Formats: sequence, C-alpha cells, structure tokens
Amino acid sequence: MKITFPHMGNLYIAIEALLGELGHEFVVPPKSSKRTLTLGTKYSPETICLPLKLGVGNLLEGIELGADTALMVGGRGPCRLGYYAALQQEILYDLGKEINFIVLDHPKEDFTRLKSQVVPLVQKGGLRALAKGVALAWEKLKAVEKLERTAHFVRPREAKPRATTQALNRALQELRRLGSIRDIRRRCREECDNLLALASTNAQRPIKVGIVGEIYTILEPFANLDLEERLGYLGVEVFRTVSLARWLRNNVILSSLGLYRSWKLRINARGYLRAPVGGHGLDTVAQTAALACKGYDGAVHILPFTCMPEIVAQCVLPNVSSDCRIPVLSLVVDEHTGETGFQTRLEAFVDLLSRQRKGGAGYEPACLSWS
Ligand code: SF4
Repeated sequence: MKITFPHMGNLYIAIEALLGELGHEFVVPPKSSKRTLTLGTKYSPETICLPLKLGVGNLLEGIELGADTALMVGGRGPCRLGYYAALQQEILYDLGKEINFIVLDHPKEDFTRLKSQVVPLVQKGGLRALAKGVALAWEKLKAVEKLERTAHFVRPREAKPRATTQALNRALQELRRLGSIRDIRRRCREECDNLLALASTNAQRPIKVGIVGEIYTILEPFANLDLEERLGYLGVEVFRTVSLARWLRNNVILSSLGLYRSWKLRINARGYLRAPVGGHGLDTVAQTAALACKGYDGAVHILPFTCMPEIVAQCVLPNVSSDCRIPVLSLVVDEHTGETGFQTRLEAFVDLLSRQRKGGAGYEPACLSWS
C-alpha cells in the first residue's frame, strides 16, 4: 500500500509524520500548482468548489508518482465535503485509476465504518505506533501554526525584503526531518526567534487585518493566491482566524466526546445567524464581529466560488460590517481568478484601511465584494 493525500497548506508535514510512524510507504504529491489545477478542473464537475478540483489534481499527481491508495477525510453537515471522497473515487475510476480510498469520517457519523477504515492504517505498526504517530503529528501541526503566526507578525515589519518567507520555508523543511517531540519544541522555539530577529526595531504600527472564510482557501496558499504573503508585503499584520489544530480539537476530539458546544460562536453571531450553516459559515460571521470588538482595522473574507456556507455568510457580512464598523473585503476564488485583479483589490482595500486609520471617526466602513 502506497498512500497519497490531497494538500491543504502545510498539513502534509503532520500527515507524513503520522504515516511514517505507522510504517507506511507514502507519496507527498507536489505542492498545488497550475498543473494540479488544470488536471483537477479538466476532470471535475464544472460548478463544484475549488477544493475538490485541486484535490483531484493532487491525487492524480500522487498516482503518477506510484500511489495506489488515497487518504481522505469525510464531512458532516450541509456542505459538499461529505461527498468529496465518493466523488473523487468516481472521477478516478472513470479515468481508469482503480485506487483504494481510506476515508476518515467523523466518529459520530458511523463508528463501525470508521473502525474498518482505520484498521488497515494501524495494522502494520500497531497501537503503540499509532499513539506515537498521532503525538508527533499533533506537535508538528502546532509547530507549523506557531511558525506561520510568527511570520504573519514579522512580515510587515521585516528589515530585509522577502526574508521572512524564505526563513519560514527553511524552518518548515527543517521541521519535516525531526522525529521527537523534544526536538520539535526546541527547534520551533529557535526558528521563531530567528524569524523575530528579522523584524526591524523601528517599524511603524502596521494595519491589522483578520482573515475569515472557508478553511481550505484560508490554509492553502495556492488556492488563495498567497493572500497572507501579499497582505504582509503591503504592510499588513495578518491574523488567521482559522486554526487547524483548534478545529481538530473542537470538532473532532471534543465533539466526539459530546464536550464541544458552539455557544461562543453563536453569541458573537447573535442577531445575524442563529445556527451553523455548514462549513465555516457561522465562524465567518462570528469571527468578523469579534475582530471588530478586538480593534482590527478590517477583515478579508475568502471563499471558493459556489461554496454554500460562505455564500450565506457573505450575505450577512454587510450588516456585520456596518453595525460593528469594520470594513470587509470578500474575495471569491476559482480557476479563473486572475492575479492582477486580485492584487489590485487588496491594494485598494489596504489603502482604504490606512486612510480610515488616518481619517478617524468620520470615515465610513465598507463591505466590498469581488468575484
Ligand atoms: S465549505 Fe464550501 S468549499 Fe468547502 S467543501 Fe463545503 S461547499 Fe465546498
């Protein structure tokens, strides 16, 4: 069994640690690129959301490198993620690629099926390897997020242009080869210090923007056209409201034990949305309102074209924007998104935010949308 899986940002660093500990052969597909998108778009339904198209492209590239098994996650609630694995399997089957799928569903969906899916993964290394693999993967995931957060802080303050991105990429590659929790923690601390050392001591207070929206497009830099990097180099300190580690803890571990309640999100979204609408729709509305309370200058809402939960959120955001006095820019992405138009919107938004900061109270917040 040679396993491959779709990309979602730097999640591959945690997945390869887990599969390695479990004793499996695996193929990390090349990072998502124009070729991945072309492959995915060619074979996927036209109006399906971008994450599925890129996922199909990733799997095809993994198969080209010798993979015969795909690792996927299932999904719950009113969004298409739950159908992804079945749809991808059909698409690959039609292309003559008869590969096995291991689908990790939420434990509350169908525990017996989940158990049957996990068994082939664990059989080789046993429960001890599983426990070590999960611990290592979890530690790497936390380290990746800490490094990324540090880079978000340093980028608008850096003394040497582009040094942050280079240092972050180096640190992430370094993290991949570490095999113990102690080493990961130590290395993560050192690399964060290295990143912080790149910040200029007399940097101005940057504009602060929160990123809200659909989890895949927030985390996958190819899907969001390097949104965080672009904003950073426009002098913006970015705060990513989505954390994969937090999402896994709340929506998989705590919710399986019946211990997670979305009451905090519901309180923040009160008056706009009463219940989850699938995906991260409720989070988007709640987090935008929370960003305004925390004094952020603005919010960028990113979503794939035809994403149902985020379309609901997008309809609500103009009200949140004017009530909470926070400018919001909604960016819809798909395979037709052009870089130049994207960059122009970001520059105009950042310009609006800096003028708002200088203009003070007289400046009206705006909710802008671009697709
Ligand atoms: S949240 Fe949106 S983009 Fe993600 S799978 Fe669901 S519908 Fe597609």
